[in-house]
Formats: sequence, structure tokens, C-alpha cells
Amino acid sequence: MDGHFIDVIIPIPIENAFTYRITEAESKFIVPGVRVSVPFGKTKIYTGIVLKVHNQAPLVYEAKDIHQILDESPLVTPQQFKLWHWIASYYMCTLGDVMRAALPGAFILDSETIISKNSRSELQADALQDDEFLVFEALKQQTSLTIQDISGIVDKKNVLPLIKRLLEKDVISVHEEIYDKYTPKLVKYVKLQSNFSTPNALQALLEDLHRAPKQREVVMTLFSLAAKTKKPIPVSQLTTASNSSTATVKALIDKNILEEYVIQIDRIQHDAVETENSKHLNKPQQEALNAVQEAFKQQDVVLLHGVTASGKTEIFVKLIEQALKQGKQVLYLLPEIALTTQLVSRLQNYFGEQVAVYHSKYSGNERVEVWHHVLQNAAKAQVILGARSAVLLPFHNLGLIIVDEEHEQSYKQFDPAPRYHARDTAIVLAQIFKTKTLLGSATPSLESFYNAQQNKYGLVTLATRFNDVMMPEIELVDLKDKYKRKRMKGHFSDRLLEEITETLENGHQVILFQNRRGYAPIIECQTCGHSPQCPSCDVSLTYHQYRDQLRCHYCGYYSVMVKTCNACGSVDLDNKGFGTEQVEKEVCMLFPEAKVARMDLDTTRGKYGYEKIISTFENQEVDILVGTQMLTKGLDFRNVMLVGVMNADNMLNFPDFRAHERSFQLLLQVSGRAGRTDKRGKVLIQTYNPYHNILQQVSTNNFLQMYKEQMDDRFNFKYPPVYRLIKITLKHRDFNKVNTGADWFAKSLKQTFGSYVLGPEFPPVSRIRNQYHKNIMVKIPQKQSLAKTKKAINKINTSFASVKDFRPIRVVINVDNY
Ligand code: ADP
Ligand code: ZN
Ligand code: ZN
Repeated sequence: MDGHFIDVIIPIPIENAFTYRITEAESKFIVPGVRVSVPFGKTKIYTGIVLKVHNQAPLVYEAKDIHQILDESPLVTPQQFKLWHWIASYYMCTLGDVMRAALPGAFILDSETIISKNSRSELQADALQDDEFLVFEALKQQTSLTIQDISGIVDKKNVLPLIKRLLEKDVISVHEEIYDKYTPKLVKYVKLQSNFSTPNALQALLEDLHRAPKQREVVMTLFSLAAKTKKPIPVSQLTTASNSSTATVKALIDKNILEEYVIQIDRIQHDAVETENSKHLNKPQQEALNAVQEAFKQQDVVLLHGVTASGKTEIFVKLIEQALKQGKQVLYLLPEIALTTQLVSRLQNYFGEQVAVYHSKYSGNERVEVWHHVLQNAAKAQVILGARSAVLLPFHNLGLIIVDEEHEQSYKQFDPAPRYHARDTAIVLAQIFKTKTLLGSATPSLESFYNAQQNKYGLVTLATRFNDVMMPEIELVDLKDKYKRKRMKGHFSDRLLEEITETLENGHQVILFQNRRGYAPIIECQTCGHSPQCPSCDVSLTYHQYRDQLRCHYCGYYSVMVKTCNACGSVDLDNKGFGTEQVEKEVCMLFPEAKVARMDLDTTRGKYGYEKIISTFENQEVDILVGTQMLTKGLDFRNVMLVGVMNADNMLNFPDFRAHERSFQLLLQVSGRAGRTDKRGKVLIQTYNPYHNILQQVSTNNFLQMYKEQMDDRFNFKYPPVYRLIKITLKHRDFNKVNTGADWFAKSLKQTFGSYVLGPEFPPVSRIRNQYHKNIMVKIPQKQSLAKTKKAINKINTSFASVKDFRPIRVVINVDNY
């Protein structure tokens, strides 16, 4: 026994938890999962999470004391620690990385540098320069200043040299302080002072007030409001109802007639909805539900493969009901919560206030509130609906996990670490709680379907649409032929125009899909062939006509659209390719009567950006909706009878081994938006390659054939899901450095893994934000130990970092790269 210590996870990329010394008294109080603030390095203070309380002093460094204990009870549960360890080891990152991803930002308190007067020093003011004197004077008025304050006082951006001088002259001392970012939301309420609670007293009061009619009105209104509701009455409600001002209310408070008080409330308030009963399942749905339950007896994970609009959601609802009945929480994962307002309200209709939503567009404060509700197993957090990061919430007694649209690639976090896949993480989370995971999709990922084929997962198929609506009829339109025979207007074939005309005439709606935003992805000079490039990335700038700008889709750089060629000065500039803006413009010209809207990243910024577009389309205030792949994510519009795919070739030709699988998924999903309710819909896909296997498989809705063919390729070329893949990316500003570093890294890997190492290779866009990227892939056969492979990679990575020349190169390791 040599004292009391804690291991603390700090949100910075260091390998291990860090050990601190605590007092005997603190050791009685601190438990794993509470936050502490701790010093690190010379001046830094971080918020950390206590991982372990123990008695072993660290061997190689002197443990420092902690700064402060921040919680009375744990914020992080033992189950979460298990999951964090799994994520860190599987995805090759640190616990600090996982902590940063899991905790709402507002939990990780900011530290700020505080400057205060050095009380010991007897100071001669005339020894100070002008700016030093200003700070000295300010510190006479105020006990402490922030860097920002000082910046304001001397009216300079960089005040660090000044602070350094003041430190040297012993005028000031500097330390770090932390402050809480979470601010509870308080609402002001009013009530009548208790001495007016009897009818007589009230009567007397009203008579007293007969010369202040406004105040009298306020008191009477408050009295009648209070009679109607047992709930507290906010000041704002009172002023509105009595048509008075806050000044009148304040006068009454000052006179001790009214009493003001505050209550802390939740930021996220869902309107209390009348809940409805879940739907009666039709026969195929009921059979699928039974099959899922049967499969759960044998298997922890079941894949529900149900065609679009087969009514998978209603099956999920039944399973959620059962879990709730057992008093368990349910996690419902979605690829992108902002796009699924429809689903949120559907679930709220069934489960009312038991539904908690963890929204990526929520503020830090709102996230904190959801975290607490989940942690406390509150009545309002029984069904938790969220995107990727919701899998990291502090569940209490999870009874079921649903992963909707399980094939979506947005489940995989790309950057920064932890580069985790929420579907796969969800399966591990379910195991920790000894419960089940249901994956749902109309177009399962090859990974999940392969696992089902291997009997690792159960598989349930639902092949018919609800209401027995037929799957939409899919027609492939040959663009080469249409251009040759001059049957094109802009980017619209005669067939697509005919179908749009007819659909609109019948009072139905149209969706047009183009997987590129902006007006044109390339501007090319007809005289010299030059096209404007991003100064920091290796890509052409996309022309956005609406803002008359050229924009980089990788780094956000933009400039005004050029009128003449930067290289030769020619005015003869031409567009190549086309994006959603151009489709929108053309369709407006071709159908001047129709109301057209566009849904892509440019039109959906802001908290309610998506909602607005989705609801105007739902309410049929818009006839034609043009959009990117955002349109494919599970939207359920009742009146859409036609889906047009403007060009299927871009995505098919994308240089990635998953391009074909993805194209199949995207095209079938967007097709699935047509004719969902009672009449058969129609889909037109324009392409230069109508005989492409994938397009044939899409048009016949032949998932199995696609699966078999793609699996052959994956097998032959040693790709997932047959082999596992770890991608190692090296990044640096210096082209030569990246090259030499990547060669060294790949050579070392090849010594261990031989021909299973691919590269190094530059990706199609090899420079982003002035950083050159080079990739190395390690393929891992199924029988090879994953743990040993990762260990070997880590070892090589450590030796790499110990070479002085390579140290500045950033190495990004992505396990199960998507
Ligand atoms: P999926 O998720 O498989 O694409 P949905 O669950 O969105 O399909 O169902 C498609 C449509 O059919 C929805 O509008 C839904 O309300 C309706 N629906 C599905 N099942 C039923 C049912 N059993 N009774 C009534 N309507 C249903
Ligand atoms: Zn030119
Ligand atoms: Zn750029």
C-alpha cells in the first residue's frame, strides 16, 4: 500500500490512461465513471474520466494530484467502459479518442488561461512599457483577466509576447481554470403570494387594486389560469394571457403580491402527442415477425431483408413494444437522424414521450440532457432514436437494438478517430447487455448478408410490399442512342420528359436524382483546355450558379466564378458534367408550370433545413423534387409515382471496390420512393451502359444475383467481407516525405504480411487541404488472427514514429475501411 491513486482517461491521443494521486478522503468518494479535472504537462488542465481506483503508484513517473472532482455520481457506466475498451482495441485508437466521441462536448470542460496579479511583487510602475502598464492597471480593478480580456485592453491579437514579458518582470502569474459549459435552462414562473390564497384575501386584494386596473387584470388572469391548470405558470404565459407587460408583473412582484420562482427545464420538449396503437400486421409481416422471434432463440443478430415499403418499420414497432413491456430500453439506430423526421414522428405517435432523440444537430446542452435521461433510465428515454453516436450513450438496461438501413455507409465514422462502425459496435453493445440486434434493410450490405449465409446471423426475408403494391417498373434509357437520334433536351431524354408530363397531369409527384451537387463539376477552357483547380486540393472546382461561385467540395474553398480563362484569357469557357442545380434549372424551363424544389447539402443547412423541404414535398406544395443521395434514406412519400435517375454512370465508374454494391443499393433505394402506397410506380434510369450487370440487376430487383456476382469478385480479389481490410493513410504537406515514408512503411509491412499488402498508392484525390495522402492496404485472411495482425501493425507504426524524419507524418489507421 503506497497511497491512493486513480487512472484517468484524458481526451487527448495518448496511449494509456494516466495515473494521479488522490487523498484518503477522496478515495472514499471517487468511483469509476466520475469526471475529475487534472493537470497535464506544464500548464494544461483537462477533464478526464476515472477509469479505476487503486493503490499502485506509477513506476515511471511521479503521480500528480488531481485538481478537482466534478461529479458526485458516475456519468459513465461499467458497460460503457467495456464498449470503450472494445472500440479502442478493435479500431486501433485510444480510450481518449473514444471518450471524446462519446461524451457530449459540454461535459468536457474547457480550460482557460487566467492571468492574475502577482501579489508578492513590489512593483515600480515606471519600469513598465505602455502596454504592460495598461494590464497592470487593469489588474488593480479586477482580480483576474483572460487572454481575451488582455487582447481587448491593449487592442492587439497576439498578446503572448506581452504576457511573457509581464511574467519575466514578475508582474503577473498565470494559471489554468476550468468552467462548466453546460448551463441549465431556467424558466421564470409566477404565483400569487400564499397570503392571498383565501377567497376573502383575494377579494380584498382586487379591491385594493381598483386604481391600478392593469395590475388588477394581471392578478385576475393569473387566478383564472391557476384554476384551470395545476401546472406552474410561466411569466410569459401570464403576460400574453392578460395582454400586459413584464413591467406590470414586476410591479406586482415588488409589491409582494406575486412571487417569482425559477424551474430548470429540458431544452428538448416534444409536444405531448396523443399516442395511437400500433398497426395490425398483414400476413407476410406477421410471418416475418414470427420468424425474427424464432431466429432470436438461436441467434443474437438477425437480418431482416425486406423490400422497400414492405412495412419493416411496423415490425420493428411490435418488437419495441415487447421490450418496453419488459421494462427495457430500446436503441433504434438510423443513418442520419436529420433526414428521418418522418420516422421520428411515426415512433412518437406510437410511443409518445418515451421516445428520446439524440440529434447530431442538437447543441451541447441538449445532448447533455439526453445523456442524463438515458443514464437515469428516465421514463422519457425508453426508446432512444439516434444516428451513429447514439450507440455510445449510457444505457441502463438495454433490451433490443434495431439498426435500420444497416447498409448505409454513414454508420462508419471516417474522421477523426475512433473510426468505428456503429452497426458493428451496436452488435457488441448488445452482447454486453446480453440482448439482441435486428438489422433491417431492403438492400443489405454484402457484409451482413454474407454473415447470414455463414449462419452467423439469422435471416428473414419479406419480399412483398405492404398492400400488395407491385415493385416499381424500372426502365433503362440508353443515353448514347438518345443523343445520336437527337432525342435529348438538355439532360432529359424524350422518355423521361413523357413520363414526367404524364405523372404531373395525373396530379402525382416526381423525384429526380443526380448524385452531384452544384451546377457543373468542371469548367473547361475551350481554347487551351485549362480548368480551375482548388489551390489546396487536387480537384477541379465545382461551379455553383446560384451563388456564382466556384467551390471545392473537399475543403470548402470558394472564389467568384471566373469570366475568362486564368491560363490563356479566353472567354470561351464550357461546363463538363452536371449537378443538381443544373437539373433544377432545366426542369424549371421544361415544365414552367410545375413547382420545383431541390434537396442537397446546399439547400439543407441549418437546424430545420431538411424538415422544411421534406414537409413541403409531403404536403404536395412541390411537384418535382431534385436531389442527391439524401433522397434515398428511407423517406416515405405517398404521392410519388415517378423517380428519374439522371445519370447512373458516375457512381458505377467510381474507383472503389464497393462502387458496384453501392450503386445497386442507391438505385434500388431511390427507386423504392416510387409508388409506395397503392399504385405501382415507375422508375427511369438514364445511362450510357444499359447492359451493365448492376443496372440489369437493379431493373429486375435481383439482389441475390448481385450478391453472388459481387461476392465472386470480392473472393477473387481478396476484398471484404471475405478478407478484412485495414487501410493506413500517410499525410503530409511535403510530397517527397509522404513518398519515402509510405515506401518505408509498406516495405516493413510486406516483411510480415507479404503479398497481402497493397500499395503504397495515391488515392484519386491525392492532395486535400494541402496535405498529400498515400494509402497502404493490409488484407487479412479469415484464418489469420486479427489481434496479432493489429499488434504487428502497431509495432511497425511505433518504429516508424521513432524515425526522426518520419515523425511529422500523420498516420491514420482505418480498420474495416469503408
Ligand atoms: P419500409 O420501412 O419497409 O420501407 P414502411 O414501414 O415505411 O416500409 O411502410 C410503408 C408504408 O406502409 C408506410 O406508410 C406504412 O405506414 C404502411 N404500412 C406498413 N405496414 C402497415 C400495416 N400493417 N398497416 C397499415 N399500414 C402499414
Ligand atoms: Zn484557356
Ligand atoms: Zn479544396
